[in-house]
Amino acid sequence: MTLVSAYTASSATAPLAPGQIRRREVGPRDVLIQIAWAGICHSDIHTVRGDWGTVPYPLTVGHEIVGVVTEVGAEVTRHAVGDRVGVGCMVDSCRECANCQAGQEQYCLRGFTDTYNGTDRDGSVTQGGYSTHIVVDEHFVLRIPESIPFEKAAPLLCAGITTYSPLRHWKAGPGRRVAVVGLGGLGHMAVQLAAAMGAEVTVLSQTLNKRDDGLRLGATHYHATNDPETFTRLRYGFDLIVNTVSAQIDLEDYLNLLALDGTLVTVGAPPEPMPVRMFTLFDNRRSLAGSTIGGIRETQEMLDLCAERGIAPEVEVIEAAQVNDAWERVLAADVRYRFVIDMSTMTS
Ligand code: NAP
Ligand code: ZN
Ligand code: ZN
Repeated sequence: MTLVSAYTASSATAPLAPGQIRRREVGPRDVLIQIAWAGICHSDIHTVRGDWGTVPYPLTVGHEIVGVVTEVGAEVTRHAVGDRVGVGCMVDSCRECANCQAGQEQYCLRGFTDTYNGTDRDGSVTQGGYSTHIVVDEHFVLRIPESIPFEKAAPLLCAGITTYSPLRHWKAGPGRRVAVVGLGGLGHMAVQLAAAMGAEVTVLSQTLNKRDDGLRLGATHYHATNDPETFTRLRYGFDLIVNTVSAQIDLEDYLNLLALDGTLVTVGAPPEPMPVRMFTLFDNRRSLAGSTIGGIRETQEMLDLCAERGIAPEVEVIEAAQVNDAWERVLAADVRYRFVIDMSTMTS
């Protein structure tokens, strides 16, 4: 066990504060990563604030991690000291169930191990990326292509893959009308990825404040959801809607925007249930779906595509000590469009 510096939550309400956490010794298949950048995902805030249930404190969150390999175990073959690598939301899974075997570790039938607030092999609680180092099994470590600026790579490990996976699964592409609800961290990646896949992209945001950004990122249309007219004007207008909103919304309003056989897929994870009448689904033979992150192979595919096509998140780089202010801005939907913590500024 080694102690490393981290920004840690001691309760649901206290600000994050510098401290130390334990990392396991590097095992035969493990990689030790010196973390360079860590993205701030809204899930970090949901988790610490107890939105999804009680969590054990102290807890260090962060599952958008990039850094440099500084040590590898004796049996490691995929990564070497000096490599630029990334870790997302998973650090382990059973590798044996049908879903793991199919490369869909995020749907491991025994449950994958979350990067933070998960149960590690030794029974300890996993601790995330707001820290200087992490030890991870090589299978869950991704290669970061050289052409992706390092600080922009971190958000791809959650925001990127979480939107890429459903866009691929529901076949965003030429001739498909895709709406992205919420232009935050996930939403601004969804817009870029759907546009790169050739879909006609519409942003549905609370206001028109981010309109110029949405169009620059690749959307063709942009509408405000605080205008009731939006929901009549766009009725039956989409084949696929990706909901990235972190709060409860009226799903029926959005389902009514789907064309025949359209799908509304939710990746946003508000704590409250969202009711839907069955008759709203009967109309136009609609589907309501959910999706979580993506498999390891698929994550590498997404990273390689982003490198090839020059796709990257827009980031606001902060020092570790600014993390609490950044969280408040995420909660106010004021992030443009992902905060990334410079881990070299970690002091304790
Ligand atoms: P984020 O950066 O805060 O973006 C969320 C966006 O939702 C905001 O920018 C805002 O967009 C919109 N929004 C916020 N409050 C709203 C409200 N009350 N009504 C309507 N719209 C609202 O968050 P994120 O990091 O992208 O994460 C989004 C959600 O996805 C979170 O719930 C997170 O936990 C979840 N998530 C799920 C997965 C998964 O695997 N399924 C993975 C990562 C994250 P506008 O200003 O444009 O309206
Ligand atoms: Zn996330
Ligand atoms: Zn499994």
